[in-house]
Amino acid sequence: MNLSHSLEEHFRLQSTIRAALSRIGIRTIEDLLYHFPGRYGDTAESRNIATLRKGDTALIFGSVSKLRTSKGFRTKIAMADGVIDDGTGKIKAIWFNQPYLAKMIPDGALVRVEGKVSQKRAKTGGEGDLYLSNPKIEQVTEIPTAVGDSLFGSGSDAHTLYPIYPETRGLSSEWIYHKIQAIFKSGILEAIEDPLPEDMLKRYNLPTLRTALVWIHTPENADHAAAARKRFAFEEVFFIQLERQRERKAWQKNPAFVIDPKQEAMDRFVSRFPFPLTDAQKKSTADIMADFKKGHAMARLLEGDVGSGKTAVAATTTFAAINTRPLSDKKDAAGLQKRQDYGSLQVAYMAPTEILAAQHFESFIQYFEHTGISVALITGSGCRKFPAKVPSFKNGERQNWTDISRAQLLKWVANGEIPILIGTHALIQKSVKFKNLAYAVVDEQHRFGTAQRAKLVRKDGIQPHLLSMTATPIPRTLALTIYGDLDISILDAMPHGRKPIITQIVVPAKSVKVKNKDGAEVLEREEAYEKIRAQLREGRQAYVICPRIDEPDPTKESAVQAKSVKEEAKRLQDKVFPEYEIDILHSKMKDDEKERVMLEFKRGSIHILVATSVVEVGVNVPNATVILIEGAERFGLAQLHQLRGRVVRSNHQAYCFVLAETQSEKTIDRLTALTTAKNGFELAEFDLKFRGSGELYGRKQWGVSDVAMEAIQNIKMVEAARTEALRLASEDESLARHPLIASELSRREKQRIHFE
Ligand code: ADP
Ligand code: MG
Repeated sequence: MNLSHSLEEHFRLQSTIRAALSRIGIRTIEDLLYHFPGRYGDTAESRNIATLRKGDTALIFGSVSKLRTSKGFRTKIAMADGVIDDGTGKIKAIWFNQPYLAKMIPDGALVRVEGKVSQKRAKTGGEGDLYLSNPKIEQVTEIPTAVGDSLFGSGSDAHTLYPIYPETRGLSSEWIYHKIQAIFKSGILEAIEDPLPEDMLKRYNLPTLRTALVWIHTPENADHAAAARKRFAFEEVFFIQLERQRERKAWQKNPAFVIDPKQEAMDRFVSRFPFPLTDAQKKSTADIMADFKKGHAMARLLEGDVGSGKTAVAATTTFAAINTRPLSDKKDAAGLQKRQDYGSLQVAYMAPTEILAAQHFESFIQYFEHTGISVALITGSGCRKFPAKVPSFKNGERQNWTDISRAQLLKWVANGEIPILIGTHALIQKSVKFKNLAYAVVDEQHRFGTAQRAKLVRKDGIQPHLLSMTATPIPRTLALTIYGDLDISILDAMPHGRKPIITQIVVPAKSVKVKNKDGAEVLEREEAYEKIRAQLREGRQAYVICPRIDEPDPTKESAVQAKSVKEEAKRLQDKVFPEYEIDILHSKMKDDEKERVMLEFKRGSIHILVATSVVEVGVNVPNATVILIEGAERFGLAQLHQLRGRVVRSNHQAYCFVLAETQSEKTIDRLTALTTAKNGFELAEFDLKFRGSGELYGRKQWGVSDVAMEAIQNIKMVEAARTEALRLASEDESLARHPLIASELSRREKQRIHFE
């Protein structure tokens, strides 16, 4: 057996299991070993059914019988139920929306069941039978005979902890456990080499790879499990940072244009803004200007809450670049390359969506109109150029730009006649060639990766300066880890005069009045609508955000169906706001349709825009001052914060109503953080603490595993890993003296590419 062997070489896999494994990206022995338990159960904590009381959350072992599938009487929700028996008593278990359970577990099977004990109301009105509602259930091979006995071992020294692996349909935790034990028994651990050097492990008191693998899958006690997780988290954070440090060094090797315009011209440009720059904007601009002079390419992240004014920073620094002459072929007396006395350097400004790109095009026209230079837009659906020779009219609006062909645009970009090109990803296609690209701004892109950056590099090796802008607040430890190759500037202050947004929680039920912890009143739906109406009467506009586009997909299983854009827009129009103009916006609409809706909303002819979270990034309509978010508990706090940022674009008082579908204390508490937090960073930290790993961050969003995500709360650990990565990157840049680290690094790179 070898780590890189596929599982199929050693185990016979049923087709359902094979499918489940491939769904979660497990193919090799190694993949399975690195599939860590999400948590551990303790058989010592199991209970006898006879002792269960209403309200308990209990772990029981027993046999299951009478498993069957049914449909809810009124709700028509697919259900499954069965009876668990452990010799001391019996209890019914009911599952909503998981009818497949009945087919997965054979009658009479031994199971481990964990869940909340509820009580039915008896027909007579009194208290009825106890039951478990939606418990976790898993087939097991043995039942611990007495409290304290191990599920998987026997004898007095047996451990009571057992691993619980992340749930996936068709793949039981038990199955994974047994396969991992079989792999351990093969002796493979003896052959495993630890990529982390011994002295590093000693410094931070971390177990070796071999020990850590055993401890994470079969800990003797909680300390072992914790030590193993710490090691894997350290290892992951270390390797991410090492990679970033190497990227950073590679990035800085190539030359970049020196951008050093006259301060006076810069001041004049800024003085035309209809507002003074905030101190934070000035500081960030200065950071960038300092980088521009260094001779190697900048790689900087500009992080700032929604509405903090990142565009103005981008515009000011863009002005600096286009005010710099390109280098000529001639050298001066000192042998340095001279600058041309014509033309200008070029700037590329990339946005994630067409709506945003078009919006930046419009605002850049305003910023640069007086300079007389050209600004162009390139997206998948067409190209535009400002200024137009003859102004035209479209949708009844005067247009100072004109549509041009792609070929024409490419020509002008290639010969340097267009200094500023704004666009979507279309901007980094091969066919787009710049003459003197000196500066690239990337908006709302969490991470503009190495591969994408490489596309911006010129043939002669000159690299553009790179500014990544994001409104996604992330905790500092996470930023250190995943943005280790970037310098960071933060816009931590809002423009002067902005009133804090008033955020209120709205609950569906009419009968119950809940209070926030700090006493602020929680509203009901109708009350929120009245407040929105009051704003609309003042001439303001509103967003309503729904979690989904279409009607429920009947094949999907979800207990509570979230509101959909289409249905909700119709309902609001018919029943709630018949006197106002309502329209919709979502990602599946055609581009020109999206643009029409945005234009009409901007112009004010649409009063209420019902949308999915597509409006989350960057959309700017200052007159919209209210946002109502349906199904708010489905979003992370940081994301809710971004959504509400849509309405803090002016000095009008703004309102945000967050509507919870459920009224649980936990939901209300979590949403309350929104009403009190000072900024997005605070909320991101809160998310990290309370939503736990996996859900919000984790692999999908940041390319960081759940184990590392968990550990990232520990700033000391993150800094230690960073220290080690920095040291190694400078002491042994090629990693020639650390072959094990080099090969582990490339293994991780490959795995990540596979995952992406
Ligand atoms: P974001 O950081 O979310 O991209 P924008 O750049 O879109 O924010 O700016 C939001 C709004 O604030 C815009 O209408 C912009 O003109 C305005 N703005 C930017 N800077 C300032 C400032 N210093 N004072 C007042 N308003 C500003
Ligand atoms: Mg923006």
